[in-house]
Amino acid sequence: MTAHPELTRNQALVLKALGQAEIPLSAYTILDLLRDDGFRAPLQVYRALDKLQELGLVHRLESISAFVACAHPHCHAHEIIAFAICRTCGRVNEFSDAGIEERLGRWIEAHKFEPEKTTIEMSGLCAACADPSNGASVGA
Ligand SMILES: [Zn+2]
Ligand SMILES: [Zn+2]
Repeated sequence: MTAHPELTRNQALVLKALGQAEIPLSAYTILDLLRDDGFRAPLQVYRALDKLQELGLVHRLESISAFVACAHPHCHAHEIIAFAICRTCGRVNEFSDAGIEERLGRWIEAHKFEPEKTTIEMSGLCAACADPSNGASVGA
């Protein structure tokens, strides 16, 4: 994973924990993982997460109250990010789509709505869980 010199030690540790996780982590899970690194209070985790979200390195998944490291932190050209969350294995696929963005953009325009944050979260089954026979090669 790329090093981010602008991060504090705590922020870097939280980002690393999320980067190594295969599935989204709650703030309390992150706290447990980082106890050996000197984390003692949820607030330390929340502060680091706030900053990491501000920097676009981490996303919060509202529907499951958990956090993921951004899948492509250096190319967030899109405002609208979508997540497909597998309810069986817990893996998350992050993507953005120009078509969705365009349609939403027209709606926003027509309704004079001022969006501050737009996140699309789908929950369901990933390809590997929906059909275990197409197996371990999916995701990774
Ligand atoms: Zn992202
Ligand atoms: Zn799955």
